[in-house]
Amino acid sequence: MNAPTPATLDSLTHPQAFSERHLGPDAQQMQHMLQTLGEDSLESLIDGTVPESIRLPAPLALPAGLSEAQVLETLKGMAAQNRVNKSYIGMGYYNTLVPNVILRNVLENPGWYTAYTPYQPEIAQGRLEALLNFQQMTMDLTGMDLANASLLDEATAAAEAMTLLKRANRSKSQRFVVADNLHPQTIDVVKTRAEFFGFEVVVGNPAELLAGEEAFGVLLQYPASTGAVEDIEPLIQLAHERKALVAVAADLLSLVLLKSPGEMGADVVFGSAQRFGVPMGFGGPHAAFFATRDSYKRSTAGRIIGQSIDANGAPALRMAMQTREQHIRREKATSNICTAQALLANMASFYAVYHGPVGLKRIAERVLRLTSILAQGIRASASLSLESDHWFDTLCVRVGEQQSAILARAYEQGVNLRPVGDDRLGISLDETTQAADIEQLWSILLGADHGLSVATLDASISAAAAAGIPAELRRRDPILTHPVFNRYHSETEMLRYLKRLENKDFSLAHGMIPLGSCTMKLNASVQMMPLSWPEFANIHPFAPRDQVGGYLQLIDQLEAMLVEITGYDKVSMQPNSGAQGEYAGLLAIRNYQQSIGEGHRDICLIPSSAHGTNPASAAMVAMKVVVVECDEQGNVDIDDLRAKAETHRENLSCLMITYPSTHGVFEEGVREICEIIHANGGQVYMDGANMNAQVGLSKPGLIGSDVSHLNLHKTFAIPHGGGGPGMGPIGVKSHLAPFLPNHVVSPIAGPRAEMGAISASPFGSASILTISWAYCALLGGEGLKRATEVAILNANYLTEQLSAHYPVLYRGRNQRVAHECIIDIRPLKERSGISEEDIAKRLMDFGFHAPTMSFPVPGTLMIEPTESESKVELDRFIEAMVTIRGEIARVESGEWSLEDNPLVRAPHTQADLVGDWDRAYSREQAVFPVPGLRESKFWPSSNRIDNVYGDRNFVCSCPSIDSYRD
Ligand SMILES: *Cc1c(COP(=O)(O)O)cnc(C)c1O
Repeated sequence: MNAPTPATLDSLTHPQAFSERHLGPDAQQMQHMLQTLGEDSLESLIDGTVPESIRLPAPLALPAGLSEAQVLETLKGMAAQNRVNKSYIGMGYYNTLVPNVILRNVLENPGWYTAYTPYQPEIAQGRLEALLNFQQMTMDLTGMDLANASLLDEATAAAEAMTLLKRANRSKSQRFVVADNLHPQTIDVVKTRAEFFGFEVVVGNPAELLAGEEAFGVLLQYPASTGAVEDIEPLIQLAHERKALVAVAADLLSLVLLKSPGEMGADVVFGSAQRFGVPMGFGGPHAAFFATRDSYKRSTAGRIIGQSIDANGAPALRMAMQTREQHIRREKATSNICTAQALLANMASFYAVYHGPVGLKRIAERVLRLTSILAQGIRASASLSLESDHWFDTLCVRVGEQQSAILARAYEQGVNLRPVGDDRLGISLDETTQAADIEQLWSILLGADHGLSVATLDASISAAAAAGIPAELRRRDPILTHPVFNRYHSETEMLRYLKRLENKDFSLAHGMIPLGSCTMKLNASVQMMPLSWPEFANIHPFAPRDQVGGYLQLIDQLEAMLVEITGYDKVSMQPNSGAQGEYAGLLAIRNYQQSIGEGHRDICLIPSSAHGTNPASAAMVAMKVVVVECDEQGNVDIDDLRAKAETHRENLSCLMITYPSTHGVFEEGVREICEIIHANGGQVYMDGANMNAQVGLSKPGLIGSDVSHLNLHKTFAIPHGGGGPGMGPIGVKSHLAPFLPNHVVSPIAGPRAEMGAISASPFGSASILTISWAYCALLGGEGLKRATEVAILNANYLTEQLSAHYPVLYRGRNQRVAHECIIDIRPLKERSGISEEDIAKRLMDFGFHAPTMSFPVPGTLMIEPTESESKVELDRFIEAMVTIRGEIARVESGEWSLEDNPLVRAPHTQADLVGDWDRAYSREQAVFPVPGLRESKFWPSSNRIDNVYGDRNFVCSCPSIDSYRD
C-alpha cells in the first residue's frame, strides 16, 4: 500500500468553518435523506424543486464565509470605530446599568432568547409570568387599569395610541392635537401614520389648539421632551370637556416619583421601557409600554397576557383574546403589530423585580437630586439660565450664542449633549451619572474655573430649591406592592427566580420548534456576542454620525449583502418588525404613485393564503383589499388574479404576494403574476418573510417584484426572543428608493427629505443587525445557498416520511415542497374527533413545540424544520408523529373513548402522575410514549389551558396578594 499523500492547506477545510456547524445534517445524513427521496444529489433535488424560470443565472457575488474567530475580529474592528461618548442626549434613550444577573441569564441565555411567541402556553409559563410582571409594572407606574405586553417603540406606540383614541371616541372629528413638547421623532412617526388614516395632525400649544375646532384626541408628554415637569391635569380636563380623549407619553423612571397620568385622568399612557436595564443599542431593540382603560381592552393593539385555568382548574397564564390577532381580523384589523419586543419587556420587568419599589425609588431620587444640583450650579452662573423651574432628570439650558462652542467643548471631553434649537442645550441624567460627571458638565458649560462643588451644593441647597418636582406632582400612592417585586432582591434569589421561569419554557435549547412561516433556525452563540460589547450597546441613536463609523459601516455592508441576496437596489433598515416593513413598503408604493400623479390607486390584491399582517398593513395605508383565490394546489388562481387586476386596472395599486407561497410551494406562475400586475399599472410587493427557501437560489428582484421586507428574525438568524425583537428591513427597486422612510432627528441619505419616519430611530433596532451581519459573513455566498438547499432537503425529507401517515395538503412540481409543508388533520378529525390542537399539545409530551396551527388553512399543521435540524432530530419528530398517528388510530377504532385518551388529555404534567390514575392509558404511555424520553424529558408545567375561560374572566394583572395566601 502507498502511504497516503499529505493534505495540502487548500484541501483542508478551515477547522472552524461555520457552515458545517450551522447545518443540522452532516454529509452522510444528507446522503441518506437524499436516498429516501430518490435523489442522487442535493443539486438534483433543487433542480427538480425550484422552477427553472426563477433560478439565479450566477452564484451570489458574496465573499467566502469567515470563521467564527475572523467574524469576531472584524466586528471588533468595526466596534472600535464607534466612539462611546457619555450621553446626555436623552429624548427617550438613556444610559442604564443592566443588572449583570439579567444580562448573563436572560439577554445572553438561549433559554430565554430562542423561545417562540407563547402561543403554546403550557410550555411558556415562564415568559408569560415575566410578561405579566411587565404589565403589572406598567399599570402600577402609569396608574392605568390595563397594559399590554409591549409594542415596538415609543413613537409607534404613540401612533397606536392615536388610532385607539379615534376608535374609542364617538367624535366625528378627524383632528388630532399634538403638543409641541413631545420628542420630535414621536411627532414624526405620528404624522406619517396619520396621513393615510386621513387624520389632521396639528402640533402646538394644546390649550390653544383645543380652544379651536373639535378634536378626537390629544397627545401630551410628561415630563416634556426638554425636561419640564408640568401639571397636565388641567389640560386633560380641558380635553375631556371638549370631547377629546388624551394619550400621554411618559417616562417610566420619572413615574416612580411623579403623580401618575392615570390619576390625572389620561385615557392612554405609553412610553419606552428602555431605561429599565436595556442598553440603548443605537436605537434598539427596546420594549414600549402601553396602558389604557379597561373598557378599551378589546381595541388595544399588541398582545395582552391574561390569567386562565388549566384542565385541572389550576391557574395558568396565556395570551388573552388571541382572536384579536391580526391574522384573524385581516383587513378589519386596526393595527398590524405581530412580533413585538418580548425579550426586552422581560428584561425591563426583571429590572423592576430586582430593584423593587425601594430600589427604584433610590435610583429615581438620586437622578433627581443630581439634576437639582446641576440645575443649582447653572442657576448660579451669570451667563446661563434654565428654561423650566421644574424637572426630573432633564434640563434645558439657555446658552444663546455659545451653543456651538459648548457643544464642541463637550465633544472634546467625550460628552454628548442635545442641541435644542440654536440657542439651548438639553442635558439628561440617568442612573449611571456620578458626582464627578456633574462637575464635568459644569466645566463644559461654564468653564473650568466654575468654582462649584457637588458636595457643597448638596449640603447647602434647601429642600425647596432642590425640589425639581412641585409638591402637588409628587406621587403619593405606593407602587409595585405585589410580592413579585418585593422578593427577589438578593442575587441568589434573583438567579433562582430567573432559572425557575426559564425552566418552564420550551426553547431551541430543548428541541426543534418546527413552525411553518416562522423559520426557527440556529441562533449561533458567536452571532450573539457583539450585542453585549459596549461599543455596540452604549450608543445613543442620535449620537453625531462622526461617532458611529462602526455602526454605519456595519449597516452599509449588511445593506450591500441584502441587495445582492434580494436583487433590489436599496435597503432601508428602519422597520423594526416584518409588519413594520410591510407598512413601510406599502407607503413607498403609495408615495411613489402619488409622485407620478397616480395617487388615486388604492386597490391591493392579496391572495387568500396571505399572512394576516398583509391585509392589516394594506388597511393602514388606506388601501382596499381585494382577495384573490387560490386553486386546489394552493397556487394563486392566475385567471382570478388576471380578472381582478383588469377589473381594477384604473385603481390597482399593488399585489402583495408571499413567495414561496404561504402554502409552502414554489409557484410556477410567479413571473407571469408579476407581469400581469405591472401590465395593469400596479406594483408588486413580495412578502419576504420566507426568504429561507430563496436565498442563493432565486431573488425577489429577479422574479419581478418591486419591494419586499425581510424578516431578519426568521431567515437571518436573529433569535425570536419569545415574541420579539425583530427587524424587517425592506428592499426596493430604484424607482421606490426616494420614498423610503427618512428621519426628522437624524436624516438619512437617499430618501426624499419630506418622507416621514416609521420608527423612533433611524435604523430601527440597530444593535441586532450585528447578528444578521455575522450570519451572512459566517456563511458567505456558498454557505447561504447551501443553507437554503438543506432547508429544502429537510422539509422534503420530513414531508416524505410523514406523508405515509398524514395527508400532505400542497405540493409543487415533482411532488416537492419548498421549505415547509402543511399536513391536513381535517379528515382525521372527521373520523376520530382528534383535532390539530390535540396533536399540538400531545407533541409537548414528546418534547416538541407544536408546528404552526391552523394557518394558513384551518385544521392543519404547517411544519418547517429549517436547515439547522439534524436528521437525528427530524427522525425523533417523525417518530413522535407516527406514534401519535397510532394513538389516533386507537381512538378511531373505539379502543379509547374521545374523552379519555392521551391526546385530548395532553399535555401531561408531573402532577398528573401522583395520586390515583383512572385513565384508559397508562402513566408510562402518558409521559414516556417513546423510549428516548426516559433519557431526556421536558415537562410541561400546566395541563391544557382553557382559552375561553380566560377571555370570559379577563384578568391581566398579577394574581392578587390574597391568592398567594391560599
Ligand atoms: C412572520 C411573518 C410576517 C410578520 O412579521 P412580524 O415580524 O411578526 O411582524 C409577515 N409575513 C409572513 C409571511 C410572515 O411569516
